[in-house]
Amino acid sequence: MNRLQKQMKREFEDKELFEQARSYAYEYIDGIEEMNVFPSQSSLKNLTRFDEPLQEKTIRAKEIIDQLHAFGSPATIAQIGGRYFGFVNGGAVPVSLGVKWLSDIWDQCGGLYLTSPVNAMLEDVCENWLKDIFDFPQETVAGFVSGTSMANLCGLAAARFHLLHKLGWNVHESGLNGAPKLRILAHEQVHASVKKTLGMLGFGTNSIEWLPSDDQGRLVVKELPKLDNHCLILLQAGNVNTGAFDDFDTVCDLANQVGAWVHIDGAFGLWARATKTLSHLTKGMEKASSWAVDGHKTLNTPYDSGIIMCRYPDALVSALQSTGEYIIYSKQRDPLLYTPEMSKRSRAIELWATMKYLGKDGIDQMITTFHERAKQLELGLRKLGLKVINDVVFNQVLIAGENDERTKEMIQYVQESKECWVGGSTWQEKQVIRISICSWMTSKQDIERTIAVFEKAIKNKCRLY
Ligand SMILES: *Cc1c(COP(=O)(O)O)cnc(C)c1O
Repeated sequence: MNRLQKQMKREFEDKELFEQARSYAYEYIDGIEEMNVFPSQSSLKNLTRFDEPLQEKTIRAKEIIDQLHAFGSPATIAQIGGRYFGFVNGGAVPVSLGVKWLSDIWDQCGGLYLTSPVNAMLEDVCENWLKDIFDFPQETVAGFVSGTSMANLCGLAAARFHLLHKLGWNVHESGLNGAPKLRILAHEQVHASVKKTLGMLGFGTNSIEWLPSDDQGRLVVKELPKLDNHCLILLQAGNVNTGAFDDFDTVCDLANQVGAWVHIDGAFGLWARATKTLSHLTKGMEKASSWAVDGHKTLNTPYDSGIIMCRYPDALVSALQSTGEYIIYSKQRDPLLYTPEMSKRSRAIELWATMKYLGKDGIDQMITTFHERAKQLELGLRKLGLKVINDVVFNQVLIAGENDERTKEMIQYVQESKECWVGGSTWQEKQVIRISICSWMTSKQDIERTIAVFEKAIKNKCRLY
């Protein structure tokens, strides 16, 4: 062994660097409830400490952990705490972080059964559990990808392959030039990642038949044109602003009568289906052809975790595969068949642990609690005289001020409080405050503290009206 090998071997053996990482991680967890939800100016400034030329010599691992904790930890978003309400991010269930730690040490390449039997097994288990929780058709398969952006890409690629195949065209071999023209139907409120995907797959956003949506961002079903077997219809379970759900039941029935494909983007909303009180929002969803959902949002797994589910295994696998001769397929599951990636993180491990820990009741309770907290917040804000402009059907709360300026001032006030973090968004051409409840840690007290920030803002003459 050369000197470098010996140094690294010693680091494996004496565990000092791992112990160091562990103690910093514990310190972080213990401080989470009172840390700034968004980093202070000075913490952000300190990030420039990382901006240095790469030195010539190898250094000790411990120094690196020290540097990361000293300047990295204070510049994090308190995402795993209870008062970060930005975007639709979600926290992390403790056991999911625990198994991530252990499996990070394994460093498994999750592409093949041969490169990680344990990951292949846990993907199979997750696939079965997800089908069961969501009550999806038995033939459904799941691919484990980095997020819903990627899951949407996979679902739409499967749709493209399947619809063209039925029309006598192999898109894998012949491409899109000269192919029968598919009709993409989407309403104005599809997520940005879906628009991106349509561009990447060669459809182009200009070729979409745009459909109208209502004041909550739901497809206006009676405006749906006559469908045929060239149609790919894009629906949503959980609008990223309002949290609204499309009418899957009606649209899927119409689509299935003519052999059209319905893809549902349910990044955070699909989990409503795993509850008793909110599952009515997802009625008829099981009749779609593909579904995209995240683990890392409302289910609170760590990043990155997205899932594509598809009821036509052949379409999904054909759309995503080249048949490289060097791939050794086995009788067991080869995870890469269901994803665009080959080498990949064994991310099903955290998904498995989270579902197994919570069980069906725990999942139901966690998701339902997001809704209850959102209703608590809605009520509290209304009492302060603020206008909540969406129907709080799930976990999203939208507030609008008298004009965009006032709304922006309020967002800034709340963000600068560092007590909580709310984001801005645009809804029906208006600036709005968007609050998303999706961390298991968010308690009633966290919601009260958040309402108190708005109350203080109003007292300090930061007024929405
Ligand atoms: C977040 C989100 C996406 C994108 O998912 P990522 O996991 O961020 O890639 C797509 N659609 C909706 C509705 C979302 O909320």
